Amino acid sequence: MLDNKNHLVVVTGAGGFIGGHLVSAFRSRGHQQIRAVDIKPLPDWYQRFDDVENLSLDLNRRENCEIAARGAHEIYNLAANMGGMGFIENNKALCMLSVLINTHMLQAAVLHKVPRYFYSSSACVYNADKQTSFEAPSLKEEDAYPAMPEDGYGWEKLFSERMCRHFHEDFGLRTRAARFHNVYGPWGTWYGGREKAPAAICRKVIEAKLKGKHEIEIWGSGEQTRSFMYIDDCLKGIGLIMQSDILEPINLGSREAVTINQLVDITEEIAGVKLHRKYDLSAPKGVNGRNSDNALIQKLLHWEPNTPLRVGMEKTYRWIYDQYLARERGDAGVVREMFITSH
Ligand code: NAD
Repeated sequence: MLDNKNHLVVVTGAGGFIGGHLVSAFRSRGHQQIRAVDIKPLPDWYQRFDDVENLSLDLNRRENCEIAARGAHEIYNLAANMGGMGFIENNKALCMLSVLINTHMLQAAVLHKVPRYFYSSSACVYNADKQTSFEAPSLKEEDAYPAMPEDGYGWEKLFSERMCRHFHEDFGLRTRAARFHNVYGPWGTWYGGREKAPAAICRKVIEAKLKGKHEIEIWGSGEQTRSFMYIDDCLKGIGLIMQSDILEPINLGSREAVTINQLVDITEEIAGVKLHRKYDLSAPKGVNGRNSDNALIQKLLHWEPNTPLRVGMEKTYRWIYDQYLARERGDAGVVREMFITSH
C-alpha cells in the first residue's frame, strides 16, 4: 500500500465487508488522509471511523465518482452490488449494473489524474466449462478465456477488468485487478440474503445450537468444492498487488479447497455440535468445483494467502456468535459502535 502516509487514499464500498477492513488497515498503518465512500447511509456501515472522511454517495452516478476521486493518489474500488449465490443467481441485472460504478470511477480517475487504481474482480470470471468437476479444479488466470463466466455478476467482472486494462493502455492509468476467491471473516454480511457460504453456515450452526434444533439445511449436495480466503490475506494481497507491476488480473485466493460438507464439519467442531444435514438440491449452489491456482502469484510476489481455514473460521464464528446474541437482544447497533470507538 501507499508509502507516503499523507497522500489521499480512496476506498469505495467502504461500508461493506472488504472495504471496511481496508479502511481500518490504512488507519492502522498511520495513513492521515483516507476517504471512505459507500451508497449506504453511514449508520449502516459495518465499520466506520470518525477520523476518516466518510461519504455516502451513489457511485453509479458519474458526478459522485468525480467527488469521490478528487485529489486521490490511489483508488481502491470495492463497491459493487453483490452477495452470495442466492443473491447473484436471482439479481443478474442488478449485478451487471455495477458496471456503472467501475466505468464512472475509471473516468473520474483519469479526469483527476489519479496515479493508481485497484479493481476487485472475482473467481466468477472463470469459464464455467472448467468448473464442472467436484474435484476442485485449480483455475489459472488464462482459464477466464474463452469467456463463459458466471451469468450476470461474472460477466460484469470480466468486462470491467478488461476495461481497466484498456484504461491503462489508452490513458496511462496504472490499473491493477485481483480475482478474489470467496473472502470471509468478521464484519461482513451474515444474514439477510446476501451472505456467503462461510457466514451462512456459521449462522445456521449457531442458530441450531442456541435453539436446540440439531438440524442444518445445506444448499446443494454439499459435495461442491471451494476455497475460502481469510480477510487478512485478502488485505495483504491487495497491498502487494497494488504496489506491484502486475498488469494482468491475478488470482487472490487460498488453495486449501474443501467441500461444503467439510466446511460444515469445521464449523460444527468449533461450535461443539453435530447436526443432522438436510440437503436442498433445488437451492442456488453455483459451479461444482473451483480452487485458486496460485502459481502466478507465487512466482511474481513470492507469497500466497495462507491462513488455515480452521483458524479463520474460528474467528468468524466467534464474531457471528456475538452478533447473533446482540441481534436477538435487539442491540446490534450498540455492538457496532463499541467496535468503532475501541479501534
Ligand atoms: P459488500 O457487499 O460487503 O461490499 C460492497 C459495498 O459496495 C457495499 O457496502 C455496498 O453498499 C457498496 N455499493 C454497492 N453499490 C454502490 C454504489 N452504487 N455506490 C457506492 N457504493 C455501493 O461486498 P464485499 O464482500 O466487501 O466485496 C467487495 C468487492 O470484492 C466487490 O467488488 C465484490 O464483487 C468483490 N468480491 C468479493 C468477494 C467475496 O467473497 N466477498 C469475492 C469476489 C469478489
